[in-house]
Amino acid sequence: MALQLPATMQVFERGWLSSNNVLFTGADTALVDSGYLTHAPQTLALVRHALDERPLARLLNTHLHSDHCGGNALLQSTYACHTAIPAADAVKVASWDEDALSYRATGQQCARFNFDALLAPGDSLTLGDLSWEVLAAPGHDPHALLLFCASHGILVSGDALWENGFGVIFPELAGEPGFIEARATLDLIATLDARVVIPGHGRMFGDVGGALARAYSRLDYLSSDPRRNAENAVKVMVKFLLLERQRIALVELPGVLASIPVVGSAMGLMGGEAFADDRPLVERMNSTPSPAYIALANWAIASLIRARAARIDGEWLLDA
Ligand SMILES: [Zn+2]
Repeated sequence: MALQLPATMQVFERGWLSSNNVLFTGADTALVDSGYLTHAPQTLALVRHALDERPLARLLNTHLHSDHCGGNALLQSTYACHTAIPAADAVKVASWDEDALSYRATGQQCARFNFDALLAPGDSLTLGDLSWEVLAAPGHDPHALLLFCASHGILVSGDALWENGFGVIFPELAGEPGFIEARATLDLIATLDARVVIPGHGRMFGDVGGALARAYSRLDYLSSDPRRNAENAVKVMVKFLLLERQRIALVELPGVLASIPVVGSAMGLMGGEAFADDRPLVERMNSTPSPAYIALANWAIASLIRARAARIDGEWLLDA
């Protein structure tokens, strides 16, 4: 049976570079999450088309990763929409601290935006003429939030729960706890009686129990050896770069990886032996970065090709 949403809700399922967006209509209009910066014009076009002549009144973010709030600035300049962000990130956004906001650490882009209100666990909201609770969802991001509509059993889960897994547990890469928080977030979701989940990425789904079982199993796998989380992070970062740039010159990849602090942290956790086995796919790489980054680039390329997430064409690494 196809999943049904109330008539006041619409989901724009995006590719993986941009998070999904949830548009609410009714007495008021609101959008949850705005996608990645390079897709901002597309996000605006989707909102405009769906709202017809109505303006967007409100904008909210589940968390402030670049793929969830990269369209905020354009939406704000277009609609002057009232914007609510997780309260714990307020100081960083007010001063636009790109280090604390993760954009520098991940080498990702986000246009500066501002905010009018704060969201915190325990808040109640009206979106699409329905009542929503705001819940804490630490793990992937320490300040991430869930939105839950108890009357309809609808959960907007951000990157805390996908149909198959969840977002990278970033805090662990920086030596901060994340696995325990991610587990507590899954435990919380399990208590909600959610019947429909709108994830930050991928399609909407109704088999919440199945998704939770897969998420617990993945969390067990990652948390039992932190190297696995680090390896996953490197693969995800390279895949994100490919989605963003479409193609990367093979010789450039070690230098690009060396410029991304999160990758450096992950490499430290992986240890050299993790990727020493992969035979170099690229003989002649730009040798400016250290040999460790050349080995890491070769490992990442081999891993993504094995997973059919990338392919090589001549001198280029391409998205697959
Ligand atoms: Zn995220």
